Amino acid sequence: MRSIAVLGATGSIGASALDVIARHPDRFRVSALAAHRNVEALAALCVRFVPDLAVIADASLEADLRERLRTARVATRVASGATALIEAASGSHCDTVIAAIVGAAGLESTLAAARAGKRLLLANKEAVVMAGPLLRTALQEGGGDLLPIDSEHNAVFQCLPAHRSGLVGAGVRRILLTASGGPFRGRRREELGAVTPEMACAHPNWRMGRKISVDSATLMNKGLEVIEAHFLFDAPAECIEVVVHPQSIVHSMVEYADGSVLAQLGNPDMRTALAHALAWPERIEAGVAPLDLLRIARLDFEAPDRATFACLDLAYRALADAGNLPTVLNAANEEAVAAFLDGRLPFLAISHVIERTLENTPSVAIDTLAAVLDSDLTARRVAQRMIASVKD
Ligand code: NAD
Ligand code: MG
Repeated sequence: MRSIAVLGATGSIGASALDVIARHPDRFRVSALAAHRNVEALAALCVRFVPDLAVIADASLEADLRERLRTARVATRVASGATALIEAASGSHCDTVIAAIVGAAGLESTLAAARAGKRLLLANKEAVVMAGPLLRTALQEGGGDLLPIDSEHNAVFQCLPAHRSGLVGAGVRRILLTASGGPFRGRRREELGAVTPEMACAHPNWRMGRKISVDSATLMNKGLEVIEAHFLFDAPAECIEVVVHPQSIVHSMVEYADGSVLAQLGNPDMRTALAHALAWPERIEAGVAPLDLLRIARLDFEAPDRATFACLDLAYRALADAGNLPTVLNAANEEAVAAFLDGRLPFLAISHVIERTLENTPSVAIDTLAAVLDSDLTARRVAQRMIASVKD
């Protein structure tokens, strides 16, 4: 029986994870649930799953959550704030952690789970991008397994040999990350001036949180995933390629030296990756409809439009730097996307703000958590200045 902590339980990945978990009460129990501010949804999940611990990150809502659970006669212990998130990720109540908080807010709990040797089911790609080297060290210290939940990285994981000594040792030539192209695939830059948050969040194939939906519309999501692949699979940037595949059926591919290309296919439903990682190395039912290739009929592939979607190359540029540029890229992107979603920044200015922030944030080594957090904060300040100057 696996005991699972779901961090980001009220989000899109959280919901998919809990759906798979609920299908297998003989294998899985929920031991902790954590969310940011949505007390109502978190309380409802506690009634349903009765975890040992419930964490609401916003401490001002702790009393509210406690009262709701008391009224519902649920015996779950309630805690709040950053320290409680770390406890949820690393305490003895769980052996498995689903890291599904969005953005830098998930970094410390993700590192804590890795350091504690939990099986880490990692959806929170921003944590890998901003602190890849620290995550590697934490995983080595903890000795637990990391299983990628991002569908592309889960696909790559499935296509790589189980026991490998680096990609070259395994005969891998390239990792091919597929990208849907997002809602604006095929549009030219001049057609994207009036894009609204609603348009950007209307993804053709996936229903996701708003931040990752905007990232998919700018192609920064793929940029973050290139950096994620670099850190998760120890792959040099020149071995990671992006291929646009509008149907989102081939979730990614691995090309070997002998010319073989292995792909993982499936319907675009995150429950496949979650079920794979929860049960690994076994296979279990995920509730996902069988893939009907005759209905899909064709699979298309095309090159990404790197001029219209400048964020992809910004990510490659950040990855070429060994230091803090990935951290800066992530921070600038989070600030720019939040400003866009608030109506404070036009869609086309997102890549501009990130580029200017990369150019204007001092380069430092990021070998400690304090250095990562410092670099993140500095980059956010620079990005906020850039956002204000775009508006004026
Ligand atoms: P979402 O916005 O739907 O959910 C985010 C979750 O994080 C919520 O439960 C929220 O309460 C929690 N959260 C937000 N800020 C927090 C804070 N400060 N402290 C504690 N908790 C906080 O997002 P999502 O789409 O589920 O994405 C979650 C992560 O998974 C992201 O990193 C995203 O890139 C990644 N991911 C998502 C998908 C997908 O299909 N949704 C696919 C691949 C990767
Ligand atoms: Mg993905």
